[in-house]
Amino acid sequence: MESAEIRRRWLSFFEERGHTVVPSASLIADDPTLLLVPAGMVPFKPYFLGEVKPPFDRATSVQKCVRTPDIEEVGKTTRHGTFFQMCGNFSFGDYFKEGAIKLAWELLTSPQDKGGYGLDPERLWITVYKDDDEAERIWHEVVGVPKERIQRLGMKDNYWSMGVPGPCGPCSEINYDRGPEFGVEGGPAVNDERYVEIWNLVFMQYERGEGIGKDNFEILGELPSKNIDTGLGLERLAMILQGVQNLYEIDTSMAVINKVTELTGVRYGDAPASDVSLRVVTDHMRTATMLIGDGVTPGNEGRGYVLRRIMRRAIRNMRLLGATGPVVKDLVDVVIGMMGQQYPELITDRERIEKVAVAEENAFLKTLKAGTNILDTAVSDTKAAGSSVLPGDKAFLLHDTWGFPIDLTLEMAAEQGLTVDEEGFRRLMKEQRERAKADAQAKKTGHADLGAYREIADRAGATDFIGYTDTEGEST
Ligand code: ATP
Ligand code: MG
Ligand code: MG
Ligand code: MG
Repeated sequence: MESAEIRRRWLSFFEERGHTVVPSASLIADDPTLLLVPAGMVPFKPYFLGEVKPPFDRATSVQKCVRTPDIEEVGKTTRHGTFFQMCGNFSFGDYFKEGAIKLAWELLTSPQDKGGYGLDPERLWITVYKDDDEAERIWHEVVGVPKERIQRLGMKDNYWSMGVPGPCGPCSEINYDRGPEFGVEGGPAVNDERYVEIWNLVFMQYERGEGIGKDNFEILGELPSKNIDTGLGLERLAMILQGVQNLYEIDTSMAVINKVTELTGVRYGDAPASDVSLRVVTDHMRTATMLIGDGVTPGNEGRGYVLRRIMRRAIRNMRLLGATGPVVKDLVDVVIGMMGQQYPELITDRERIEKVAVAEENAFLKTLKAGTNILDTAVSDTKAAGSSVLPGDKAFLLHDTWGFPIDLTLEMAAEQGLTVDEEGFRRLMKEQRERAKADAQAKKTGHADLGAYREIADRAGATDFIGYTDTEGEST
């Protein structure tokens, strides 16, 4: 089943069941606490928080999402992309646990000729929050899932919250068993690559009070109205329905892999290391295209920096695969070819998107070679001094003068067996930022919006790569 069909079935299934279809919002979050939209519920946040009365009781969407914290997983796990689409259904004080569970089961297991996805029920494993007897009872008694395929997990995995005070509640996840070629049995609690998580159902049921982090806070009581927020990864379901091994091989990604092969001569499956590079390029160019499409431009702050990091990592991986000339325009073109069907604005905006991407490639290629030489020297010096940690000031120099995002330096150092003094790097970044702030204040030309992001980043302790802040990966 093609991605476009998965999406069509999703929306029509929920529309037929009384949900208002809401188009995807931009990746640029209309929310000062987030740089980019990491989950389908973000555009509905004011309804869930009770700040605005929702114009409907039920809604459904397929939301564009970017999760920069997952950048490290890309190419290494089979299931994480930095860009993906989250299919969601939402209830604002309307149906609750039983309704959400029954709808999810029906859509996943109804035969394909009846409008469903036709998944084999025996391959579906359920997780519930450890104290959520009600959810377990519904899965077992109402839906008929055998107890052996229902597992209980703790707060870290199966509890959701947003803000203090704010809504919170247990969640329940549906996972698909891809079979023994993906490793040991034992359910999602044991092996999250074999039992791949496809759908998360969040039951917003309680009010959250003070406390720390995701798994240590007070629960104040029941919410006046109970809500449902769910998210299913479209690419993950495509991977299953298309019978491919990982996200990067589905219909809306494979053409990029083929293009990379055409440009470099390296074929998918040639070697594990080049496969990782192929997947990194595929994922990152897709994300970059979608970000530029939504109006992000490369820069040294906030979203612009997220875009710069992923573009530079993609370009460098193309070099590793043997590309010598420019590649970005060709890659962007292929992505637009694949994604344009679902997002036609990419096609009408093609020229602008290409221009922004190519300008970034040119800027980076100018400094890549010199920066690589600096890094190589620093690596030799570090090794000669008997250390395995590249000093923070070298990482800072590479960032500041040669435009190397920190994760590029981390990756390149790791290839030569070194780690990086990230703390030292961050300290220097912070000092530089404070100097700039002071200068700006002196000139009275401070940019208020960037200041707000910096404060958030500083609070989170990630003074530089704002895209890593914990808030980003947490919704849904
Ligand atoms: P995982 O445990 O696999 O990292 P998650 O628990 O972080 O997933 P949720 O926050 O529950 O994911 O998001 C809801 C759904 O969105 C997931 O069940 C999954 O199908 C999809 N999803 C989440 N992160 C990604 C990603 N990086 N790439 C593709 N799909 C994703
Ligand atoms: Mg995750
Ligand atoms: Mg999970
Ligand atoms: Mg989850």
